[in-house]
Amino acid sequence: MMYCENCGTEISKEAYVCPKCGVKVKNDNTSEDTPNIGLNILSLFFPLVGIILYFTWKKDTPKKAKGVLTFALIGWAINIILTILF
Ligand SMILES: [Zn+2]
Repeated sequence: MMYCENCGTEISKEAYVCPKCGVKVKNDNTSEDTPNIGLNILSLFFPLVGIILYFTWKKDTPKKAKGVLTFALIGWAINIILTILF
């Protein structure tokens, strides 16, 4: 859920304009700051990709960046464990 910057009305994430006051909602879908499952899984298998994405995204979409970084670190840890075991 997000709120209108102008009147404070609760508006849906998909809303383009505020239904109450009609002010355009600052919501650019191209840079949506939500974790991306597909890219998280990609980062799990290719930690380097996740780390590159993290540095690319950390300024504009910190939540998405943190998501890929977390999975990259998990993937990296799994790699180390497997290397030690085998
Ligand atoms: Zn409003």
